[in-house]
Amino acid sequence: MRCPSCGSLDTQVKDSRPTEDSSVIRRRRVCLACNFRFTTFERVQLRELTVIKRNGRRVPFDRDKLLRSVQIALRKRPVEPERIDQAVSKIVRELESQGESDVSSGTIGEMVMEALRTLDDVAYVRFASVYRNFREAKDFEALLGELAATDNDDELPSGKKAAAPAED
Ligand SMILES: [Zn+2]
Repeated sequence: MRCPSCGSLDTQVKDSRPTEDSSVIRRRRVCLACNFRFTTFERVQLRELTVIKRNGRRVPFDRDKLLRSVQIALRKRPVEPERIDQAVSKIVRELESQGESDVSSGTIGEMVMEALRTLDDVAYVRFASVYRNFREAKDFEALLGELAATDNDDELPSGKKAAAPAED
């Protein structure tokens, strides 16, 4: 494994342990050239996935990219990193278990929205407002209505207002 700091191939595993439900092995590594420490994750990959973008372009599925977009939606929200990682793993497992190796970016977007919905309402609205590209305030209100209907035991977090489109 190449050192992300100096590029040396002379790196060593210091510690390996399973995380989550033992479907992931986490390895602590150290670079013998510059002493940089980093972590790698070994996961089962059931299937090579290809993402079909809206413009028809095909790109290899990238778990890290998916994780980053979920992290961005959850920025500054009180959700533990482990739960975020588990949610992403769940999406990946679902995608890999489907019969198709090709998956549309729209399908992934819908799955992310579904995951965010169970993790954090504010992040859900934040992601959905960007993903669905709301142009009109009424779309946004309709989404909030959807949320209120499903989570009527929860008080609406005040942060939701901050996620409203600027033209609102
Ligand atoms: Zn190094």
